[in-house]
Amino acid sequence: MKEKIGFMGLGIMGRAMAANIARAGYPLTVYNRTPGKWEALEELEVETAPSPEALAEKSDVVIAMVTGPEALEQLLWGEKGAARAFEPGKVFINMSTVSPSYTKDLDRRLASTGVIFLDAPVSGSKKPAGDGTLLILAGGPEDSVEALTPLLKTMGSQVIYCGRVGQGSMMKMANNLLLTLMIEGLAEALNFGRKGGLSDEAVLEVVLNGPLGCPIFQMKGRAFAERSFDPNFPLKHAAKDLKFLVDTAYELGAPVPVGHTLLHLYRAGVARKWGDLDIGAILKVLEHLNPAE
Ligand code: NAP
Repeated sequence: MKEKIGFMGLGIMGRAMAANIARAGYPLTVYNRTPGKWEALEELEVETAPSPEALAEKSDVVIAMVTGPEALEQLLWGEKGAARAFEPGKVFINMSTVSPSYTKDLDRRLASTGVIFLDAPVSGSKKPAGDGTLLILAGGPEDSVEALTPLLKTMGSQVIYCGRVGQGSMMKMANNLLLTLMIEGLAEALNFGRKGGLSDEAVLEVVLNGPLGCPIFQMKGRAFAERSFDPNFPLKHAAKDLKFLVDTAYELGAPVPVGHTLLHLYRAGVARKWGDLDIGAILKVLEHLNPAE
């Protein structure tokens, strides 16, 4: 029999991931801080819970897909928090992007409840979440990850086992260092080319048709050409992830000089109130740095 699933967080990613769990036939209960977001799931057989605690009471597996630590603290340990209903035999999977050290701290605090805890952040944005083709970066007891792979595969095409709890988050940090670097790099090349008299179309034609023409550049190149900043991955989340990354690098003694610069640039985008736009709005940050003509 399929496990009863409780899903907390129906944002850009969570809504699509929860829908795929329901479509795969798992009994699903959802909770979101702001009511009404479950309307998108109305055509599926989904129950709603009045609180995280009520959701956890009726679920075998509780999944969270929220902004970060502040939201998780609220959902787990706040008033009517889910952790009150955790007990041996239940599983909690955090799929939100947080730092490895926060994940390890959470693991220590959850231990007294007896719940099995996995971290399973994802690589892929709104479209792969809708298509169920995310890459799932799992950390935690290997036998639990294996047992839960059929559930995880309703949301992703691959489950990659990264090691003990926290290692999923470590993998996510490494992946997002490269992602934020590549998107900033493409934006920087376009802005640089423009200053030297090259059109965006000409620069994109060269980048996309040569050895640099990877899927992320194809996708963001199209968005840059259309100046579309509709959020798939909001810029504010990229800035948040870079802060976690720089802190993690400091703890590990790993040099991330470009990571520091990226944090500065993406954070500047948040300060200019572009945080709810797509990560591609890093192009607007660079344009803002251009000297006035
Ligand atoms: P989002 O659209 O901004 O949704 C955030 C969710 O977190 C909403 O359900 C929101 O509830 C909830 N939340 C925020 N603060 C809260 C609080 N204090 N208490 C309770 N709930 C709170 O974010 P998203 O794009 O779906 O991303 C979710 C996670 O996945 C993030 O960690 C992000 O870094 C990661 N991620 C995103 C992408 C992407 O492309 N979007 C890709 C990979 C990973 P309300 O509706 O009440 O605001």
